[in-house]
Amino acid sequence: MLFNKIIFGPVKSRRLGTSLGVNLLPDDSKLCNFNCIYCECGFNFTKPHSHLPKREEVKEALRAKLQEYADKNEHIDTITFAGNGEPTLHPQFAEIIDDVVELRNAICPATKISVLSNATFAHKPQIFAALHKVDNNILKLDSGIESSIKIINQPTGNFSLKDTVENLKKFRGNLVLQTLFFSGNYKGVTIDNTTDEEVSAWLKLVEDITPKSVMIYTLDRPTPAENLHKADPKRLAEIAAKVEALGIKTQING
Ligand code: SF4
Repeated sequence: MLFNKIIFGPVKSRRLGTSLGVNLLPDDSKLCNFNCIYCECGFNFTKPHSHLPKREEVKEALRAKLQEYADKNEHIDTITFAGNGEPTLHPQFAEIIDDVVELRNAICPATKISVLSNATFAHKPQIFAALHKVDNNILKLDSGIESSIKIINQPTGNFSLKDTVENLKKFRGNLVLQTLFFSGNYKGVTIDNTTDEEVSAWLKLVEDITPKSVMIYTLDRPTPAENLHKADPKRLAEIAAKVEALGIKTQING
């Protein structure tokens, strides 16, 4: 499933409420430095003439949509950077965040701004600063075991779990950690990030990172890899209870 506009929705998000999406990636292909086997946009592919929207295009499209909803007196819970890949890959991500904060403050000050990111560019000072400016800085960590991340998320560049965790710790709690739990088999390898071993490695990192909250969820839409299965709701509840025991608020979206 691809989003074919810069601004899409609003959609009813399980996690965020009424969410107006911002797609900073091409509208006809997917661009990400992960290639998650569960990604709702499918596996990575680019088309030869794909281009990223310009900062000005994003600003004008968002201004028009926010004004339309303000004129109708309809509330949007959050403006969410998601779309066809990793939003922080856009070279003007930081400037676009500034524009969105300005528009939100002027047109709909009660609306939150959320970013869904895989956190791999959080070490860049501009990206780090921009992520600090949003209300919901939602960063992905699908396992506490590097070999599992390499199967689940399939990072396409250099990836180090240790470095990622260090970057997440630098937010000093100003982040929401999100983890998708599931099981299955991919290319003959069994995957299950709900096992005791997986959960205990992940919990240790959650404790180190101390996010302001954790969002745990499972598969909801068709996945590009076959043979993947939703996590058992009871197991999600057990995992959530373990996070809550650390004093960290947890939201389950089964
Ligand atoms: S990080 Fe997000 S956009 Fe990228 S492959 Fe994974 S789920 Fe898809």
